[in-house]
Amino acid sequence: MTAKKLKIINLSIFLAFFYGYGDCRKIFQGYQNYTTYKTGTLNVILTVPHGGSMKPSSIKDRTIACANSEGQCTWKTDCHQPTSNCTPLVESDYNVQLLADTISEKLKDITGKYPYIIQTELKRNKLDPNRDKPEATLFDPEAIKAWNDFQNYIKEAKNEIKKGLLLDIHGQSHIEKWIELSYFAKISEINSDQLQSDKSSIYTMSKRFPETKFNELIYGNESYGGLLESKGYKVVPSPSYKKPGSGNYFPAYYITMEHGSMKGGNIDAIQVETPFAYRRNLTYISRYAEDVASVTVEFLKKYYGSTSSGAERVLISIPSMILFISSFIMQLID
Ligand SMILES: [Zn+2]
Repeated sequence: MTAKKLKIINLSIFLAFFYGYGDCRKIFQGYQNYTTYKTGTLNVILTVPHGGSMKPSSIKDRTIACANSEGQCTWKTDCHQPTSNCTPLVESDYNVQLLADTISEKLKDITGKYPYIIQTELKRNKLDPNRDKPEATLFDPEAIKAWNDFQNYIKEAKNEIKKGLLLDIHGQSHIEKWIELSYFAKISEINSDQLQSDKSSIYTMSKRFPETKFNELIYGNESYGGLLESKGYKVVPSPSYKKPGSGNYFPAYYITMEHGSMKGGNIDAIQVETPFAYRRNLTYISRYAEDVASVTVEFLKKYYGSTSSGAERVLISIPSMILFISSFIMQLID
């Protein structure tokens, strides 16, 4: 066989591997299949904490819990008199798993690569992975295992990606019908005119752009909200709605604040609360997901300079290097 033929075969194998790898996703299910983790090769993580439907009787319901003598919730349920102030939220987000899967397909259409997805299959009255462990589980041993799986899968995805963006996918039905983005744990932080980057979940990203005012990264034309607004959506924060003011608005919770870059690291996070209008059925979801995917890719290119996870770079570069070296050697001895 001539070196020329070998080179063609090698190139074909390389191309088949390159294109084939984009479709190659591993799926893990965690303890009792309560958590689903789909791996990807794009440097984006989609988390879906409120879209599950499983209600195993072996996990106790999240209901009214206890407070300590200072009135702070302990989230234990074995006290004499639980307090209504310590009643966990249990409302699910309609169609958000379908929304995340559709955004994932649209991202694949644009980039050839899937994002990572982590979702709980448990209903929110059994587990809320978007709260810290006590409030999330009310100390139920099985719920704790599922909570640990959820957070550990996020850590695994972050380790593979190295540098990228986590979008925490939610739904709300507020009368403002706006898309609510959050980078902060408190509404006062977004309503104040002195936004502090080190209290936000995009702290690391902001440090790469010291010449850009931090406010611009939150509600400027090229912020995530600004890019969504340019597609025709009503968004807060964005150039038209810089802050929610007294409007209905959900600030970021555990996933965004824990797994974003407020505490360091190279993964930033944004909580994305989608109005019901874009989640009502697959037709609406599909149109909206296409815009979210397109905005996400634009955002990645502008602020991360890449749309690849570290895993893909390693897996593609090693075989390709071997193949090209072997081609070169064959050419020399031909
Ligand atoms: Zn939610």
